[in-house]
Amino acid sequence: MKKFCPKCGKSVNKLYEGLCKDCYKEEILAKLPKQIELKICEKCGMIIKGNDTVLQKPYFKKLAKKLDAKLISYNDELVLEKEGLELSISIKKNYKLCHYCSLQKQGYYNAKLQIRFKANYEKIVEYIERKSWQARKRDKFAFITKVEYLPNGVDIFIGSKAFAHKIAVELKRKYNAKMKITKKLITVKLGKRLYRDTIALVER
Ligand SMILES: [Zn+2]
Ligand SMILES: [Zn+2]
Repeated sequence: MKKFCPKCGKSVNKLYEGLCKDCYKEEILAKLPKQIELKICEKCGMIIKGNDTVLQKPYFKKLAKKLDAKLISYNDELVLEKEGLELSISIKKNYKLCHYCSLQKQGYYNAKLQIRFKANYEKIVEYIERKSWQARKRDKFAFITKVEYLPNGVDIFIGSKAFAHKIAVELKRKYNAKMKITKKLITVKLGKRLYRDTIALVER
């Protein structure tokens, strides 16, 4: 038996909450935002929220949950599943530099890694860069500020001490090097001494 949609008058086989599928979809869409506007870092691709950043996946998952829907995808549009229907909302992306990538650009660093054993330095830098992108998902200061090639080695300036130490230990093991750490006082902030670490890896 044919049914009629009271909203548009169309005759259909099935009604959703008393409406045809199109009108029902429209009704659900009306309760959702028309467009989502986001600030995205042009360098690291993270979503900028105030002075901080969040990874795209958890951000969109949380947003979908807030809209009482299931997340399907999030590229040019946010695709959600709600009440058995697939809905899409456009995403407006505004690109700028996030707090952490700005610090990196300004030359901010907390640790200097000095490689002083014989090796393929480009290969080591490439390895650290790869590790840095992985680590930045959790440690936002794990960026590389600057790389300086020298006749007898390479200096890598890093934002995060924790990341620099972790990498240093890995390289020490891999290349059987000797590690030497020196701390330099850079400032006293609110009675707290702030140090910058220099980690040297030398031939054993
Ligand atoms: Zn209808
Ligand atoms: Zn960034």
